[in-house]
Amino acid sequence: MPQNPDTTAITAGRGDQSSLSPALWPSTVWEAESLDDATKRATGLRSSEFYSRFANPTVTQFEQAIAELEGAEDALAFGSGMGAVASLVLALCGQGSHIVAQNNIYGATLSFLLGPCARFGIETTLVDPTIPGAFAAAVIPGRTMLVIAETPSNPRLAITNLAELGAIKGPFTVVDSTLATPMGQRPLDFGIDIVLHSATKGIGGHNDALLGVIAGEQDLLNDVWSYSVMHGACASPYDAHNALRGIRTLAVRTERQNKTALTLARALESHPSVKAVFHPFLESHPQHDLARSQMRYGGTLVAAELHGGFNECNEFVKKLQLAHIATSFGGTETLVCHPATSTHAGLSTDALNAVGVTPGLLRFSVGLEDAGDLVNDVTNALQN
Ligand SMILES: *Cc1c(COP(=O)(O)O)cnc(C)c1O
Repeated sequence: MPQNPDTTAITAGRGDQSSLSPALWPSTVWEAESLDDATKRATGLRSSEFYSRFANPTVTQFEQAIAELEGAEDALAFGSGMGAVASLVLALCGQGSHIVAQNNIYGATLSFLLGPCARFGIETTLVDPTIPGAFAAAVIPGRTMLVIAETPSNPRLAITNLAELGAIKGPFTVVDSTLATPMGQRPLDFGIDIVLHSATKGIGGHNDALLGVIAGEQDLLNDVWSYSVMHGACASPYDAHNALRGIRTLAVRTERQNKTALTLARALESHPSVKAVFHPFLESHPQHDLARSQMRYGGTLVAAELHGGFNECNEFVKKLQLAHIATSFGGTETLVCHPATSTHAGLSTDALNAVGVTPGLLRFSVGLEDAGDLVNDVTNALQN
């Protein structure tokens, strides 16, 4: 029977346990019944109850929850979002492989592709994801192994067309869906091969779990596991446990935080001190129709460009009472950051311009505070 995703957030990843709260398995190792049994455990694919780098029951439960939420056959967790990115790329690519990625992808992913991957002979072509057909045009048949997109993108919340990406044949298509969470969109429904999350953000949702996860077809994930078990970026059962707790409230958090984000975005948009505001569900967003057509929620991030530059941003954030200056997102507290000097620090002026990270740009991660209080806090700080 088809079920609303909000219900799946409550029912997913229960396994056959009768305890309503998931069991936390800190054990790194399990005892075998005999030498034959030990061989079985040591050689099994994603072997459970053997050694925690191979699999851990608490982590497995988190993976099952994500698989159900994404409508996937299976999921595979990692110690961080970057652990997921690095393991996936190195599992499927080798010397001479080619990757197509969007030019405004997460900073550490970009650095990984252009640094270590290039050093190992894995070449990356960067494309503008807002140009129709750009991903497909950059694919080199027989050489391109991965096409990697991120939607919405950070920090300007540009949208990549999921159906267009999903139609690409040949290479595996990957969508970093961290900003949307499984509540906001389901890339696999559009024919994407692998959806990837930094569960450190909205899925965990409480700033207390560092975790990454991919979901897709079981055979493909088994191939990734065969490499990642050696790479070793495995998820901690403590973090998986915290993220499972986060998943139970993901639907209500997402609904509330998205609603507040849109309220804040509209308030900012009508303020004279603000030059431009970016949120996928704002009518002024250049890809608003596309966002509405492929997303249930527009996300909890809002980007705003103030008139002026760093000094104006600095004066503004000093006056904020509720928003904390911090760079992550998806948690319960509202955060604000200045991307040019934090998440994107170290990029050249040209590179910053290419991804639209201007000196007047601020990024808000909207939390669970009352929307009216947040709007008051922001408008007071803008006025004084
Ligand atoms: C944070 C983030 C990552 C990296 O995740 P970590 O858990 O910090 O390693 C990857 N992609 C996006 C879009 C992110 O926001």
